[in-house]
Amino acid sequence: MANSAAVLSMYDEPMWESIRAHDWHLQQCDDCSEWRYPPGPCCPKCLSPRSTWRPLSGRGEIASWVVFHRQYFDNWPPPYNVVAVKLAEGPLVISNLTGPEPEGSWIGRPVEVAYGTDAAGTLLPQMRLAE
Ligand SMILES: [Zn+2]
Repeated sequence: MANSAAVLSMYDEPMWESIRAHDWHLQQCDDCSEWRYPPGPCCPKCLSPRSTWRPLSGRGEIASWVVFHRQYFDNWPPPYNVVAVKLAEGPLVISNLTGPEPEGSWIGRPVEVAYGTDAAGTLLPQMRLAE
């Protein structure tokens, strides 16, 4: 079984530091205000290298979702869900929905960040349904 340890770049470390503090930050472009995800050296919209790490609102909505019934990683025993969430700030992130699952379609459901861990105890920014 594969190990799912992430490969981190120098651009990822400040983000994971903020996640460990339960205060998820992403880079926001100093020139055009675009939020940057994944973390990187320049703005995907205007290519500016200038950015500031800022806290996210922690809110978004589900853009897509799937439930995996097959095991790919030791620390992700099936079944487990994966959601694509459009953050209020704009970026699309991949996460998991924890807690109650929506009835019917999950798409468009408002969610908020809920810090949780995978089966190996790794802290992750997960999502839960918001009011
Ligand atoms: Zn920009």
